[in-house]
Amino acid sequence: MPQLEFRWTSWLRIFKAPPPPETKPVREDGGLTAWCAEASANLFLPELARKVRVTWNPRMQTTAGRAWWPDRSIELNPKLRQCEPDELWRTLKHELAHLVAYERCGRRHIDPHGIEWQAACADLGIPGEQPFHTLPFKRRRMKRNHAYTCPNCFATIRRVKPIQRTVACYDCCRKFNHGHYHDRFRLIKNKSMN
Ligand SMILES: [Zn+2]
Ligand SMILES: [Zn+2]
Repeated sequence: MPQLEFRWTSWLRIFKAPPPPETKPVREDGGLTAWCAEASANLFLPELARKVRVTWNPRMQTTAGRAWWPDRSIELNPKLRQCEPDELWRTLKHELAHLVAYERCGRRHIDPHGIEWQAACADLGIPGEQPFHTLPFKRRRMKRNHAYTCPNCFATIRRVKPIQRTVACYDCCRKFNHGHYHDRFRLIKNKSMN
Protein backbone atom coordinates (compact mmCIF):
# COMPACT_ATOMS: atom_id res chain seq x y z
CA MET A 1 0.00 0.00 0.00
CA PRO A 2 2.69 2.62 0.77
CA GLN A 3 4.08 2.01 -2.70
CA LEU A 4 0.73 2.75 -4.33
CA GLU A 5 0.38 5.93 -2.31
CA PHE A 6 3.76 7.12 -3.53
CA ARG A 7 2.76 6.57 -7.15
CA TRP A 8 -0.44 8.47 -6.63
CA THR A 9 1.28 11.55 -5.28
CA SER A 10 3.94 11.57 -7.97
CA TRP A 11 1.23 11.29 -10.62
CA LEU A 12 -0.47 14.32 -9.10
CA ARG A 13 2.74 16.24 -9.03
CA ILE A 14 3.27 15.64 -12.73
CA PHE A 15 -0.09 17.12 -13.60
CA LYS A 16 0.28 20.06 -11.30
CA ALA A 17 3.67 21.15 -12.60
CA PRO A 18 3.58 24.30 -14.75
CA PRO A 19 4.68 23.78 -18.33
CA PRO A 20 8.29 24.77 -19.01
CA PRO A 21 8.57 28.13 -20.81
CA GLU A 22 9.90 26.68 -24.07
CA THR A 23 6.66 24.80 -24.72
CA LYS A 24 4.88 28.17 -24.89
CA PRO A 25 6.84 30.15 -27.47
CA VAL A 26 3.91 32.31 -28.49
CA ARG A 27 3.75 35.48 -26.40
CA GLU A 28 1.08 38.12 -26.41
CA ASP A 29 2.12 41.73 -26.96
CA GLY A 30 -0.11 43.82 -24.71
CA GLY A 31 0.81 47.12 -26.33
CA LEU A 32 0.14 46.01 -29.89
CA THR A 33 -3.05 44.24 -28.81
CA ALA A 34 -4.25 47.46 -27.19
CA TRP A 35 -3.42 49.42 -30.34
CA CYS A 36 -5.41 46.99 -32.52
CA ALA A 37 -8.32 47.10 -30.05
CA GLU A 38 -8.42 50.88 -30.23
CA ALA A 39 -8.14 50.93 -34.03
CA SER A 40 -11.00 48.40 -34.24
CA ALA A 41 -13.13 50.45 -31.84
CA ASN A 42 -12.50 53.53 -33.98
CA LEU A 43 -13.84 51.60 -36.97
CA PHE A 44 -16.98 50.70 -34.96
CA LEU A 45 -16.11 47.02 -34.67
CA PRO A 46 -16.64 46.35 -30.93
CA GLU A 47 -16.39 42.56 -31.07
CA LEU A 48 -13.07 42.73 -32.89
CA ALA A 49 -11.90 45.35 -30.39
CA ARG A 50 -12.77 42.98 -27.54
CA LYS A 51 -11.25 39.81 -28.99
CA VAL A 52 -8.24 40.87 -31.06
CA ARG A 53 -4.90 39.53 -29.82
CA VAL A 54 -1.39 40.13 -31.12
CA THR A 55 1.32 37.56 -30.38
CA TRP A 56 4.95 37.04 -31.35
CA ASN A 57 5.63 33.62 -32.81
CA PRO A 58 9.34 32.68 -32.96
CA ARG A 59 8.52 29.64 -35.08
CA MET A 60 7.73 31.83 -38.06
CA GLN A 61 10.47 31.73 -40.68
CA THR A 62 10.04 34.10 -43.61
CA THR A 63 6.40 35.03 -43.07
CA ALA A 64 6.17 38.50 -41.53
CA GLY A 65 2.65 38.20 -40.16
CA ARG A 66 -0.49 36.08 -40.13
CA ALA A 67 -4.09 36.77 -39.24
CA TRP A 68 -6.50 34.15 -37.90
CA TRP A 69 -10.23 34.19 -38.30
CA PRO A 70 -12.56 33.73 -36.46
CA ASP A 71 -9.98 33.69 -33.63
CA ARG A 72 -9.34 37.36 -34.37
CA SER A 73 -5.67 36.88 -33.62
CA ILE A 74 -2.54 38.18 -35.30
CA GLU A 75 0.84 36.47 -35.22
CA LEU A 76 3.99 38.45 -35.90
CA ASN A 77 7.49 37.27 -36.71
CA PRO A 78 9.91 38.43 -33.96
CA LYS A 79 12.46 39.24 -36.69
CA LEU A 80 10.29 42.29 -37.40
CA ARG A 81 11.73 43.84 -34.24
CA GLN A 82 15.12 44.01 -35.96
CA CYS A 83 13.64 45.91 -38.90
CA GLU A 84 12.69 49.55 -39.07
CA PRO A 85 9.63 50.39 -36.91
CA ASP A 86 7.72 51.31 -40.08
CA GLU A 87 7.85 47.70 -41.23
CA LEU A 88 6.40 46.39 -37.99
CA TRP A 89 3.51 48.85 -38.06
CA ARG A 90 2.82 48.24 -41.73
CA THR A 91 2.75 44.48 -41.17
CA LEU A 92 0.50 44.88 -38.12
CA LYS A 93 -1.93 47.05 -40.10
CA HIS A 94 -1.83 44.63 -43.05
CA GLU A 95 -2.86 41.77 -40.76
CA LEU A 96 -5.43 43.80 -38.84
CA ALA A 97 -6.94 44.80 -42.19
CA HIS A 98 -7.63 41.08 -42.82
CA LEU A 99 -9.57 40.87 -39.55
CA VAL A 100 -11.40 44.14 -40.23
CA ALA A 101 -12.45 42.89 -43.68
CA TYR A 102 -13.75 39.58 -42.27
CA GLU A 103 -15.46 41.32 -39.36
CA ARG A 104 -17.31 43.62 -41.73
CA CYS A 105 -18.34 40.87 -44.13
CA GLY A 106 -19.52 38.33 -41.58
CA ARG A 107 -19.74 34.85 -43.07
CA ARG A 108 -19.76 36.02 -46.67
CA HIS A 109 -16.81 34.61 -48.59
CA ILE A 110 -14.30 37.27 -49.57
CA ASP A 111 -11.02 37.24 -51.43
CA PRO A 112 -8.21 37.53 -48.81
CA HIS A 113 -6.61 40.48 -50.59
CA GLY A 114 -9.74 41.67 -52.39
CA ILE A 115 -11.52 45.02 -52.33
CA GLU A 116 -12.77 44.57 -48.75
CA TRP A 117 -9.22 44.08 -47.52
CA GLN A 118 -7.95 46.97 -49.64
CA ALA A 119 -10.64 49.24 -48.18
CA ALA A 120 -9.66 48.16 -44.65
CA CYS A 121 -5.99 48.92 -45.46
CA ALA A 122 -6.98 52.43 -46.53
CA ASP A 123 -9.00 52.86 -43.33
CA LEU A 124 -5.96 51.84 -41.28
CA GLY A 125 -3.68 54.29 -43.07
CA ILE A 126 -1.89 52.01 -45.53
CA PRO A 127 -3.69 52.60 -48.86
CA GLY A 128 -2.23 50.67 -51.79
CA GLU A 129 -0.77 47.98 -49.52
CA GLN A 130 0.64 44.97 -51.40
CA PRO A 131 -0.62 41.44 -50.70
CA PHE A 132 2.76 40.10 -49.54
CA HIS A 133 3.37 38.39 -46.26
CA THR A 134 7.10 37.85 -46.51
CA LEU A 135 9.58 39.66 -44.34
CA PRO A 136 10.57 43.18 -45.35
CA PHE A 137 14.21 42.33 -46.06
CA LYS A 138 12.92 40.22 -48.94
CA ARG A 139 10.64 42.98 -50.09
CA ARG A 140 13.42 45.54 -49.93
CA ARG A 141 15.40 43.45 -52.37
CA MET A 142 12.93 44.44 -55.10
CA LYS A 143 14.99 46.42 -57.52
CA ARG A 144 14.00 49.94 -58.35
CA ASN A 145 14.62 49.45 -62.02
CA HIS A 146 12.78 52.47 -63.30
CA ALA A 147 14.69 55.73 -63.02
CA TYR A 148 13.66 59.24 -64.03
CA THR A 149 15.76 62.38 -64.27
CA CYS A 150 14.81 66.03 -64.06
CA PRO A 151 16.10 67.90 -67.15
CA ASN A 152 16.66 71.00 -65.02
CA CYS A 153 18.41 69.89 -61.83
CA PHE A 154 19.33 66.36 -62.96
CA ALA A 155 17.94 64.83 -59.79
CA THR A 156 17.15 61.16 -60.29
CA ILE A 157 14.32 59.24 -58.71
CA ARG A 158 13.90 55.48 -58.83
CA ARG A 159 10.78 53.40 -58.73
CA VAL A 160 10.00 49.67 -58.57
CA LYS A 161 7.13 50.14 -60.99
CA PRO A 162 7.08 52.48 -63.99
CA ILE A 163 5.26 55.79 -63.45
CA GLN A 164 2.11 55.88 -65.53
CA ARG A 165 1.25 59.55 -65.29
CA THR A 166 3.18 62.55 -66.53
CA VAL A 167 5.24 63.81 -63.63
CA ALA A 168 7.59 66.73 -63.08
CA CYS A 169 10.40 67.42 -60.63
CA TYR A 170 8.83 68.49 -57.36
CA ASP A 171 11.78 70.61 -56.25
CA CYS A 172 12.06 72.55 -59.51
CA CYS A 173 8.32 73.12 -59.77
CA ARG A 174 8.35 74.48 -56.25
CA LYS A 175 11.41 76.66 -56.78
CA PHE A 176 10.62 78.05 -60.21
CA ASN A 177 6.89 77.65 -60.75
CA HIS A 178 5.23 78.39 -57.39
CA GLY A 179 4.71 74.70 -56.73
CA HIS A 180 2.71 74.06 -59.89
CA TYR A 181 3.42 71.56 -62.61
CA HIS A 182 5.49 72.77 -65.55
CA ASP A 183 6.43 70.78 -68.62
CA ARG A 184 9.95 72.21 -68.47
CA PHE A 185 10.61 70.07 -65.39
CA ARG A 186 8.95 66.96 -66.71
CA LEU A 187 10.89 63.86 -65.63
CA ILE A 188 12.60 61.93 -68.38
CA LYS A 189 12.77 58.17 -68.19
CA ASN A 190 16.31 56.81 -68.13
CA LYS A 191 17.09 54.18 -70.72
CA SER A 192 18.76 51.44 -68.74
CA MET A 193 18.91 50.92 -65.03
CA ASN A 194 19.82 48.30 -62.53
ZN1 LIG B 1 -2.41 39.60 -46.40
ZN1 LIG C 1 14.49 69.31 -60.85
